[in-house]
Amino acid sequence: DKDDQDDTTPVRWIRINPLKCEVSATVEQLNKKFTHRVDHWNQLSPGSIYYDEYVPNLFGIHPSEKITSHDLYKQGKIIIQDRASCFPAHILNPGKDDVVMDTCAAPGNKTTHIAARIMGCSNNPKGGKVQIHAFEKEPARAEVLQKMTLQAGCGSLVKIHVGDFTQLAVPDLFKDVTAALVDPSCSGSGIFGRKSLDSPDDSPSQELRDQRLQDRLSRLSSFQFQVVKHAMGMPNARKIVYSTCSVHAEENERVVIDLLLDSKVKEWGWQLSPRSEVVPTWPRRGIVDEFEEVFRNDKLKCRLLSESCVRALPREDGGIGFFAVCFQR
Ligand code: SAM
Repeated sequence: DKDDQDDTTPVRWIRINPLKCEVSATVEQLNKKFTHRVDHWNQLSPGSIYYDEYVPNLFGIHPSEKITSHDLYKQGKIIIQDRASCFPAHILNPGKDDVVMDTCAAPGNKTTHIAARIMGCSNNPKGGKVQIHAFEKEPARAEVLQKMTLQAGCGSLVKIHVGDFTQLAVPDLFKDVTAALVDPSCSGSGIFGRKSLDSPDDSPSQELRDQRLQDRLSRLSSFQFQVVKHAMGMPNARKIVYSTCSVHAEENERVVIDLLLDSKVKEWGWQLSPRSEVVPTWPRRGIVDEFEEVFRNDKLKCRLLSESCVRALPREDGGIGFFAVCFQR
């Protein structure tokens, strides 16, 4: 039960799913149930609602609300999804002519959000044509993805591919892909409460625990680098959003830096999108010190690169810890 998933979350975030309803009619229904509108999510109390200022069609309600028993939820008209985890599809901002590669897709929160955004651009997206290729390596998780896209009403917009994206998605086979989302496996260090993926390390000494964490982060970051780089090899891709639910710089800014320094990535022409295209009014940005360690002499460049990144702190920013950035060419 999603309502019981995490009892320490400061807000329950819900987004309207235009694949299953008319948005204005659903807003009206929400306003009947939640009669008092507040200006900030930290003012929420039972019965009140907050209209998010960053992501369209996203609302905050008090975490004690049993929204999963409401018809709107049962009918798939609203989907529970953390706010920061809505940033990637919002930043990608796919249009009606885009074909999107979702490289690490299960359980499908972002796949269905991308579908919703494409649908929002046009009442008649490319007449039954696949516009989202969703890859998932684990067969059991791919089944969950299948179920979630079906329930969300994605229909023929989404094609699911079960297997390793880096092996199966041969760039030439996906010449029509114009945009990608890379949301790979990560440490999950931004997730809290019962949802947390981090299992406690019971090693006897702090030194050993630190070493194990470093080893794990270094394995994860080389995998994350590899998936983004593979996506960048698709010949007609113009925009790639990279995101994690980690708070560690190793998986975030440092993966971005390694990509920016890679000779192929440079040759292919990829750069970071400026802050103006990446949730510009969101105040928490990347860690500038990480960029300064590498591009020491160029303070302006470091500031701009760090501002291209979006970060969210767990709880304090109203949900899970998160990182997102956009590459473009
Ligand atoms: N984007 C998803 C969402 O918003 O619901 C969450 C993705 S989760 C962080 C990462 C997923 O990528 C996992 O389901 C994992 O099994 C899958 N994965 C890991 N390596 C992969 C690969 N090489 N190819 C395809 N999927 C992969």
